[in-house]
Amino acid sequence: MTLIINGAALATVDEAGTEYASGHIVVDGERITAIGAGPAPDVPGATVVDGRGCLVPPGLVNTHHHLYQWATRGMSQTSTLFEWLVELYPIWGRLDAEVTHAAASGGLARLALTGCTTVADHHYVFPADGGDLAAAVVSAADRIGTRLHLVRGSMDRGESGGGLPPDRIVEDTDAALSATEETVAKYHDPAGNARIQVAVGPCSPFSVTEGLMTGAAELARRLGVRLHTHLAETTDEDEQCRREFGCTPVEYAERLGWLGDDVWLAHAVHLTQDAIAKIGVSGTGAAHCPTSNARIAVGVAPVAELLKAGVPVGLGVDGAASNESGGLAEEMHQALLFARQRSGPTSLSPRQALWMATAGGARCLGRSADLGSLEVGKLADLAMWRLDGLAHAGIDDPVAALVLGTAAPLELLLVGGRPVVEDDRLTTADDRQLATDLAAAHRKLVDG
Ligand SMILES: [Zn+2]
Repeated sequence: MTLIINGAALATVDEAGTEYASGHIVVDGERITAIGAGPAPDVPGATVVDGRGCLVPPGLVNTHHHLYQWATRGMSQTSTLFEWLVELYPIWGRLDAEVTHAAASGGLARLALTGCTTVADHHYVFPADGGDLAAAVVSAADRIGTRLHLVRGSMDRGESGGGLPPDRIVEDTDAALSATEETVAKYHDPAGNARIQVAVGPCSPFSVTEGLMTGAAELARRLGVRLHTHLAETTDEDEQCRREFGCTPVEYAERLGWLGDDVWLAHAVHLTQDAIAKIGVSGTGAAHCPTSNARIAVGVAPVAELLKAGVPVGLGVDGAASNESGGLAEEMHQALLFARQRSGPTSLSPRQALWMATAGGARCLGRSADLGSLEVGKLADLAMWRLDGLAHAGIDDPVAALVLGTAAPLELLLVGGRPVVEDDRLTTADDRQLATDLAAAHRKLVDG
């Protein structure tokens, strides 16, 4: 089972930033066995792919998503984050396994079609009568063929406890922790080539008690898995945190044991200089979600400053209820534009945007040894983008074409050497069926 790509431009995103104007990649089974300039030596029986006119970087890594939200797109169109949540929580309270599977399958398919090979899905709504929602997401990843980092989320602070969600969709603290431990036991594969890993992810300081935050950190460290939560997303959250806890969100996270190189935080928009330094020194990762941040108008994250502080910044689509497009490639484009609006034209280069979408994301998820760059011995997760069509032809620098230009046609997507997308079509599922199921799931959820 040898596959060779010849003649493509290669952006390996390795430590040295090695690139080839025209090179080859050899894939044996699930891993890369050769990469370099010019054509590969002949291998009898190998499948040879003509990569001329294309760019091959690593597959993109999505560090923050809520796949179930694919069933609630296009709603609450002019709200702040807190207004948006209050409107959507009761609808999400009706989630069941069937809706979750349809939403997750559609979301993962869309991500694959936009170059994404690994997806972190932060799922934090578990209605008591909803069925096995973790199984519904895992089976969707099996069906579409992407890697999944299932972040078992939780909320235990309902309205009666001063939180934002209605009481009937929050869990009891101990029940949430034991369900999380069960999810890790059932699905987490610690192997380097894992298709499924699990992380621990209480939702956010305004929907989770201090007890659940500290309990989650202890649990994750006992089990050797990673920690993820939303932090410093809005000024409302910042004000609430200062009022309730007398400190900034990052100081609160630090106090609860929530900074470290086994933690990645979604958003990290409203940060003091001190907070940026703390995140950097601790090795904590950040999932930057520019489209979602703009859709809800929360502000622009200080990405250039975070990168300068040594933070592994990855990119995230965030839930599709605040990013209806749900594609990852375009987040590179948005990240570059947003960083420049905030901090000037030298603040983020196309190659830094590509790094965040690949190697930076892999670091957030703890997968750098196997994912995030094209190197001999690493997993063959890669995207081959066609750049010789009208939208991109004549741009000499292929990385600039990919990031500065519009989303490019996706010629091929491999996950562990297995084709998931060919010629802009899913090979693993019927996209028309996925769309039909998605529309039905939306109706069922919204109509109750
Ligand atoms: Zn989110």
